[in-house]
Amino acid sequence: MNSDRRYIDLHVHTNYSDGTFSPVEVVRYAIEIELTAIAITDHDCVDGIPPAMDEAKDRGLEIIPGLELAAEIEDFEIHIIGLMIDWKDPWLKEQLREIRNARKERMKKMIEKLNNLGIGIKLEQVMALGREEGAVGRLHLARALLEGGYIHSIRQAFVRFIGRNGPCYEKRMILSPQKAIEMIKRVKGIPIFAHPGNMRHDEIIPELMEYGLMGIEVLHIDHNSNASNHYKQLAQNHGLLLSGGSDCHGAGKGYPLMGRVEVPYSFLETLKEAQKKEYGVNQQ
Ligand code: AMP
Ligand code: ZN
Ligand code: FE
Ligand code: FE
Repeated sequence: MNSDRRYIDLHVHTNYSDGTFSPVEVVRYAIEIELTAIAITDHDCVDGIPPAMDEAKDRGLEIIPGLELAAEIEDFEIHIIGLMIDWKDPWLKEQLREIRNARKERMKKMIEKLNNLGIGIKLEQVMALGREEGAVGRLHLARALLEGGYIHSIRQAFVRFIGRNGPCYEKRMILSPQKAIEMIKRVKGIPIFAHPGNMRHDEIIPELMEYGLMGIEVLHIDHNSNASNHYKQLAQNHGLLLSGGSDCHGAGKGYPLMGRVEVPYSFLETLKEAQKKEYGVNQQ
């Protein structure tokens, strides 16, 4: 019996990427549902971390600094989460700024394609749904299309316009998995293969390990118990660490997912030990 009832969530987005909650709202909600620790893992952005830390100070909630990067391997996309990163590193910040600038340029192209189809959406409308300095993405665009009454659901935006095969889709600047993992390791983080159950490419795990992958997100909102067990077994077979989180995007996907995946605190303890062993330090 596991008597430790402390739960954590190691995959949470804020409005510094495509979540709808500000870092302050994320922290307040995490405290309300009595989580012990959360990782802020925005896409391509670490700027939501300090406001979350400020809000959580002395309130019994630990903030784990993280981020989520996308990478392309062959012709599909995978996501890599970096946990316990040195988020203050100037080199990292500069790299992420470049990626976010490219996201904005890509957004302009998608909007142009929509405009050519007679959909009068403007960049400012999309940007207004996120933060000026944050990472703008297709979820913002989908929300703007919904607000404009051009579609009836977020899903429809992807099906009709901006899904990978949609007429208004535009590729974004994307890293190689090697570069994504190296970036995280350079700032002393733990690289985790995010939601592998969605990716359905387990065969790439050995290659990712060659680049320095250290863990798998075994618990995720999209993993049923079969998938979780499968990935726990896989992690064990490969000597990889376990991570887990909800991938909460605020209320953007209907209701807050935070805390809906029960991740035990022991995962975090093991991750911290691994960080110490790998780099000789404990971040924070
Ligand atoms: P981006 O990083 O800008 O390419 O946008 C990716 C975001 O779009 C992710 O947060 C996904 O959750 C979301 N997304 C991708 N495909 C779909 C889909 N078919 N339905 C709803 N959301 C999607
Ligand atoms: Zn997202
Ligand atoms: Fe992801
Ligand atoms: Fe995510």
